[in-house]
Amino acid sequence: MANKQYLVLARKWRPQAFESVVGQDHITRTLKNAITSGRIHHAFLFIGSRGIGKTTTARILAKALNCLASEEPTAEPCGECSNCEAIAAGNSIDVIEIDGASNNSVEDVRELRDNIRMVPTNARYKVYIIDEVHQLSIAAFNALLKTLEEPPPHAVFILATTEAHKIPATIVSRCQRYDFRRVPVPQIIELLRGILDKEGIAATDEALHAIARAAEGGIRDSESILDELITYCDGEITFKDVFDVLGLVDWQLMHDICDAILAKDVTRQLVLVEEVVTAGKDLTQFVQELLRYFRNLLVSKTANVSELIHLPEEELAALNARAQKISLTNLIRLVEQFAELVNTFDSQLAQRIALESMLIRISKVGVEVSLDTIMEKLIALGQGGLGTGNDGASSATPSAPPATAPRPPATPAPQAATPPPPQAESPPDPTAAAPAESAPAAPAPKARIKVTPENLTRAWGAIITRTSEEDLNLGTWFSRGKALGMEGSTVSLQFSDDNPQAVSFVQDRNNQQAMVEALQRHTTNLESLDITVEEAPATQSRTAASVSSDQPYYPGTNPEEAREVLNDPGVSTVVRVFKGRIADISSVAPTDPLAPDDALDSEE
Ligand SMILES: [Zn+2]
Repeated sequence: MANKQYLVLARKWRPQAFESVVGQDHITRTLKNAITSGRIHHAFLFIGSRGIGKTTTARILAKALNCLASEEPTAEPCGECSNCEAIAAGNSIDVIEIDGASNNSVEDVRELRDNIRMVPTNARYKVYIIDEVHQLSIAAFNALLKTLEEPPPHAVFILATTEAHKIPATIVSRCQRYDFRRVPVPQIIELLRGILDKEGIAATDEALHAIARAAEGGIRDSESILDELITYCDGEITFKDVFDVLGLVDWQLMHDICDAILAKDVTRQLVLVEEVVTAGKDLTQFVQELLRYFRNLLVSKTANVSELIHLPEEELAALNARAQKISLTNLIRLVEQFAELVNTFDSQLAQRIALESMLIRISKVGVEVSLDTIMEKLIALGQGGLGTGNDGASSATPSAPPATAPRPPATPAPQAATPPPPQAESPPDPTAAAPAESAPAAPAPKARIKVTPENLTRAWGAIITRTSEEDLNLGTWFSRGKALGMEGSTVSLQFSDDNPQAVSFVQDRNNQQAMVEALQRHTTNLESLDITVEEAPATQSRTAASVSSDQPYYPGTNPEEAREVLNDPGVSTVVRVFKGRIADISSVAPTDPLAPDDALDSEE
């Protein structure tokens, strides 16, 4: 359907009157007023990014000055007289368009000065439109300055530039300055819709939104994207067409990456990045699109979606479904991480999105985020590792491992095996704040503990904490044992048969091996374990009837004291609010509160 004689839209539909210039009302209104009141300056400076109407406005101004339908300059040039037509076509002998980039020598400007002395042939004014004026050489600027200082009354200069700061102040001060703005998305859409209506071509709203967004406020860019799409599409222009033509990454791939992040599937994430790279997509653009995608997720979770996200229905539904799976805290963290990444790719998009997520944080999740921060601090302090469920008060007990499942020998965290993607240092948890996952970067290795019979109880607590940090499962069962004493490099561990799961776990040879290795990693002098299983004392179950038989063992306290703590309603509330569990119980008052815990770590 593409017409062979096709005239690009930007030229075909170039505005011919001040009223049709889109998005620059502040400028066209001022210009019209100046013309109507007869206060016509001899030099104008048009500043603004490319393709937003500077040259177009300059030509309309030239027509306004020279239109023959009026006795004097008019704010409404007729568009039909010989002058208007010649100017619109770019071949008026009295309106001279100069490209500053290719006519930047002194000779060029001298020639221009000589030319200026001649009175206009068919018009009231000789109009010089110098585009990209910042590219003139210093010598050329000096020559131009002389002209601007004493311009002949029939000369009008319109200087246009994308980079105002490169123009000497002496020039700027002799011009009337006009700052052109990037055009807002709705106005671009309205313009494109108007063009398509005149061309008799259909397009979805979402497609026009996508074009307007991609053009980033530039009229000419939006029109040339539309040009491409008209050539590309047979029927209605759709959202997907825009993606295809612009070489943007397929929307489905965004969903896929999101799903892989939710599933914490690092391999899949890297495979998807590989796909993007292999397809020859621009990574900067991709990262920006990714940020936009997660921003949309955030918006769809927190605000009235239809007004803020302009996507087809089915995409909105897909987005909403995913937004429901991520907690707000994690989503904000994710968006901020992507924004930071985009920042390093140098983009303005990141600023807006950082602002948006901060606003959402302020108004929606202040409490949640601060709790989250507290959790992170607690973990950083090494308080979060002890895996002992509080069956009575907490709904967040760690899931019990299968009692008989042998486990492979523990090896230090295998996370380094697969390189994480740039944003993966704290992958989002699909359910809620995830303490174990969002722990800060791996702490520096701690000094190993020297265990003595005197410090055995405290040292044992520290060993369990460290083991739990590496392997929560192992640490959990480890903690059910009681360190009775030590002889040489062997520590005696006692498990009670009232906890059959723990007994069955520690009797597995693989698990024993893992425990021994943990001892060797974390202590300077323990090499082996002596495990005994003790019958649960009958007296205890009678005198402390309410101590649950599977109440976890807390090294720092006796079972009765522990029971009191576990049954304390205040403690239950804290556990519930923080979605936490009780890691350890110890009494504070009798010991020296200033004694540092790390005193254990005295020896390598
Ligand atoms: Zn005219």
